[in-house]
Amino acid sequence: MKLLQKTLVIIGGGIAGLAAACRAQTRLPDVNLVLLESSDQLGGVLQTETVDGYVIEKSADMFTTDPPAAMELCQQLGTTGSLIQTNPTRDRAYVATADSFHPVPRGLSLLLPGNLETVMNSPLLDSAARLRFAAERNIPPSRLETDESLEAFAVRRFGQSAFDRMIQPLVGGIYTADPKRLSMQATMARFVKMEKKYGSLIRAAQSIQPQAIESEASGARYGMFRAPENGLGQLVSWLQQALTGVQIRTGCSVHSVSRVGKRWVVETQGSNAERESINADGVVLATPAKVSGNLLQSVDQDLKQKLKSIGTASSAVVVMGIDKTQTEIAFAGYGVVVPSMLNRKVIATSFSSNKFAGRAPEGKLLVRCFMGGALQGELVDLDDEQLVQIASAELAVILGFRGDPELSRVFRWRNCMPQYHLGHLDLVAEIERMVDRQAGLELAGNSYRGVGIPACIQSGTEAIERLAKCFEVG
Ligand SMILES: Cc1cc2nc3c(=O)[nH]c(=O)nc-3n(C[C@H](O)[C@H](O)[C@H](O)COP(=O)(O)OP(=O)(O)OC[C@H]3O[C@@H](n4cnc5c(N)ncnc54)[C@H](O)[C@@H]3O)c2cc1C
Repeated sequence: MKLLQKTLVIIGGGIAGLAAACRAQTRLPDVNLVLLESSDQLGGVLQTETVDGYVIEKSADMFTTDPPAAMELCQQLGTTGSLIQTNPTRDRAYVATADSFHPVPRGLSLLLPGNLETVMNSPLLDSAARLRFAAERNIPPSRLETDESLEAFAVRRFGQSAFDRMIQPLVGGIYTADPKRLSMQATMARFVKMEKKYGSLIRAAQSIQPQAIESEASGARYGMFRAPENGLGQLVSWLQQALTGVQIRTGCSVHSVSRVGKRWVVETQGSNAERESINADGVVLATPAKVSGNLLQSVDQDLKQKLKSIGTASSAVVVMGIDKTQTEIAFAGYGVVVPSMLNRKVIATSFSSNKFAGRAPEGKLLVRCFMGGALQGELVDLDDEQLVQIASAELAVILGFRGDPELSRVFRWRNCMPQYHLGHLDLVAEIERMVDRQAGLELAGNSYRGVGIPACIQSGTEAIERLAKCFEVG
């Protein structure tokens, strides 16, 4: 007698859902695989547009090789030959001050000072701040085992001034978070471990070999970043082409997931409002936590509430193409991050055409300005013209930019950046225990154990590994 074929539904076609589908195709070859995406294209926030020779990244523009999940996925797809590295001659990031900007001290990787001398010579800090920074060596490690916010941790170790002028802007650009609420355990646990192990981060940096600092403190190590030569949209296309064994339905929004006996029922609504019920043996929710909570309404009210309690921040990305003749200063770095104490509207400016080859035509610059985040979310509601004006004013400071950009685009990412607040890991562990009680249900995506592309890929592949075991048993 032929066994009934099992069905697995993956909800959400962002990088986490696509990675789950890719793993499912090889790990569960006999299972009927369906991927449902509400928008009309795959990739979630990962989107690239090419206009007049500019390669415009709408959100992320690169991924790190550590953790290795994104590199491993590219190896599996046979596409590593089409990955490019950041331009090594311009690997400098800068921090804005009230009237200028200065380089991030060489060797400083977020909270790990790989070279204390460069911090001691940095114009970003005055002499009192430098002395306090160097005194970190003598500050005893915390004995508390509880989670601590980024601000509490960094101020306790390095002092308020170094935090405000140097550390906050470096981290702020990555998580677009409120540093008073950002969980160290969930975002930078390696520094907490180093504090415990070495007694101080300065001593940790002095004890760890330079290569190990490279891998232990990936935050600002540009040699560890990669991007497809045509932008991250290419990663999405590679995955789409590889998913020959998966029924992919875009324009198909899921509005509920419920349990009927041992199986799952996924209710969908297509772009023409047609409704459908899909019976499934397994479901991976690779949607933002709030969406997943709403979809699981009928399954477990507590789980729904916990999922919905994971906060998010919104941001806007203003992309501008400009002619080099419109600038007075030949800025040779990757970008400038802005301390929130300066009360400026731009969080960070990234020079895409300095970072990667081929991002702008000859004689032009491609620049991206980030605004909003947890501290200035209201800026996302400004209209395009206002946002472009703010970005242009920032470029006037950095580059002496004059006139109008020859190309400008504004992208808004509402509620797309999960906020890992204090206690986030405990909350996620509780959510995972609740999900474990629902055989055949899995969660994936940036809401839980990492917002970066590799962490999202890993979350998708691990969800399939757990489901495969569940399918073997059931
Ligand atoms: C501006 C910005 C810059 C970033 N820069 C970087 C970077 O340089 N490097 C890096 O590593 N990371 C970066 N990140 C983070 C990283 O890009 C994201 O965390 C990651 O891509 C999220 O992937 P995901 O699959 O979890 O979620 P998403 O990409 O949000 O995908 C979720 C998908 O679910 C779909 N969906 C939602 N509801 C439903 C429903 N009811 N039914 C069906 N489908 C549904 C959505 O349409 C979406 O396609 C950046 C993020 C942003 C916003």
